[in-house]
Amino acid sequence: MLLLYSYEGTMKQKLLQRYRPEEEHDNSVIQPMQSENSSSGFRNSPVKPLRVTLRSMTVSESGATSNGFAIRAESVSRSYKMGEAVIRAVHEISLDIGKGEFLALLGTSGSGKSTLLNLMAGLDRPTSGSILALGRDLAAMSSEELATHRNRTIGIVFQSFQLLPRMTLEENVELPLRLAEVPRGERPARVQEALERVGLGARTRHRPTELSGGEQQRGAIARALVNQPMILLADEPTGNLDSKTGEEIMSLIAQIHRPASGPGRTIVMVTHERALAERYADRIVTLSDGAISREERLR
Ligand code: ADP
Ligand code: MG
Repeated sequence: MLLLYSYEGTMKQKLLQRYRPEEEHDNSVIQPMQSENSSSGFRNSPVKPLRVTLRSMTVSESGATSNGFAIRAESVSRSYKMGEAVIRAVHEISLDIGKGEFLALLGTSGSGKSTLLNLMAGLDRPTSGSILALGRDLAAMSSEELATHRNRTIGIVFQSFQLLPRMTLEENVELPLRLAEVPRGERPARVQEALERVGLGARTRHRPTELSGGEQQRGAIARALVNQPMILLADEPTGNLDSKTGEEIMSLIAQIHRPASGPGRTIVMVTHERALAERYADRIVTLSDGAISREERLR
């Protein structure tokens, strides 16, 4: 089940290969540490009140402030060896994303967008440089801590939805709660709430194949948000959808960014569609050949 949050080649295949329902009670794969709950050392750190203040300030303002980073990439590189050749998928990128900011990563196919997003998600580790999420260096985390971090702090959605086909929608959305060891009795209400939020309250028992593409992506968004992460990362979330359904998904993501009530979320969305980026993002960062070639602040 941990593989839901780990990325090795095509995630979907891995999910299909590795997920076994009988592992439900097997915690050997992920062992959240004693301290990793609402009273964890991290959340109890003396910095917390400051963070909360900064966050509420930056959510209502536009974009980044110098102290309110959700994610900070410091000279991050990720290269792949292919025989003799070295592919620099991401090359020395430095980028700060403010708490509450909506950042679009734009660029042609192969420019390094997914690689950078996966590094920010902690699904992949940089060859050099570092990534900080909410002030924590991902490189300093053990794989268990990283899994917990991804489960609680970051929600991820992909172009191809990545719902587990053998499970119902509500079982898919419940998975992150199980990983977070949310007591069984609390889960149904949380799942229902997440599904209602994306307009799927009446589809809970459907399996992914019984849902439209748009509904599957809504389900994936509900799964990404059920643990109420501060950060939502989305890799071409409308890429497999027709334009009308894509619009619906985008307005849902915009609502998640700035809900009518309650705290907003930091959004990092990969897209190759400039129009989408311009319409929704606070800032557009364009990648070319693994490096930032352009940066535009829109709002
Ligand atoms: P984008 O998402 O912008 O289309 P990617 O981040 O997927 O681009 O890929 C950037 C570059 O890195 C491409 O040249 C791609 O072929 C290469 N690349 C990505 N993943 C791997 C991998 N696992 N092994 C080798 N090369 C890779
Ligand atoms: Mg990509």
